[in-house]
Amino acid sequence: MKFSLEGRTYVVMGVANKRSIAWGIARSLHEAGARLIFTYANERFEKPVKDLVSTLEGQDALFYECDVTNDEAVDATFQQIGEDVGTIHGLAHCIAFADKEDLKGEFVETSRDGFLLSQNISAFSLVAVTRAAEKLMTEGGSIVTMTYLGGERVVQNYNVMGVAKASLDASMKYLANDLGKRNIRVNAISAGPIRTLSAKGIGEFNSVLKQIEEKAPLRRTVTQEEVGDTAYYLMSDLSRGVTGETIHVDSGFNILGI
Ligand code: NAD
Repeated sequence: MKFSLEGRTYVVMGVANKRSIAWGIARSLHEAGARLIFTYANERFEKPVKDLVSTLEGQDALFYECDVTNDEAVDATFQQIGEDVGTIHGLAHCIAFADKEDLKGEFVETSRDGFLLSQNISAFSLVAVTRAAEKLMTEGGSIVTMTYLGGERVVQNYNVMGVAKASLDASMKYLANDLGKRNIRVNAISAGPIRTLSAKGIGEFNSVLKQIEEKAPLRRTVTQEEVGDTAYYLMSDLSRGVTGETIHVDSGFNILGI
């Protein structure tokens, strides 16, 4: 039995399919007894997300469409969530996007539009949703975002997304500082590479997975479940003294000097 999240409500943003990291987080929070709210980018995801969530036994979930590039949509979504459930206790932000063209070759070739697009969806969206969601965290709360080593170090082909993750990482810390006085914590999980829809867009992704299997201290890649359980820790009171932190769930790969 997990440390219970019964009586608490969490918003999970970014489930696209069963491989999504957000889905690993949703399952972990569900097992701990949490009530879940799902947001998805557009109507294309509505049925797949609802079908997946129907497999969570006894889960009384709510669903909202929310394109994070649209301020009015973000505000309207959280206003509606507030009207429907009142208080929320946390939010998992598992959203990123960059043009495939910008995830291969040399970073120096990145276009202005490609740069701004990835910053908008992958970094600024955390600021926008935090601003809207914190109003509903009247009992304190925990916000968790998903980052990657490519924001700290140069990772081949990660390019524009690495720069967006660096921006996301810094945003996470500034938000943690702002919201701490209202007992809202903001943290990031830096996941090792996992085969998901988004990861498919990154050039030579298979070789990245292979490198983890060969060189990471645990000699294996990580799973959505392992990331989900770390998100559960960050959402629960077990982590009540932790904010502005990045936890690496990457089989230890980040400690290596290669
Ligand atoms: P995924 O494709 O399953 O999830 C990405 C989600 O972002 C999708 O649900 C997509 O609909 C959503 N999204 C994109 N544009 C959006 C918009 N405008 N509005 C709302 N939602 C939008 O892939 P994933 O790998 O689970 O990615 C989740 C997070 O984890 C991302 O931030 C990603 O960078 C991060 N991450 C992934 C890995 C990995 O190897 N897969 C490693 C570290 C971090």
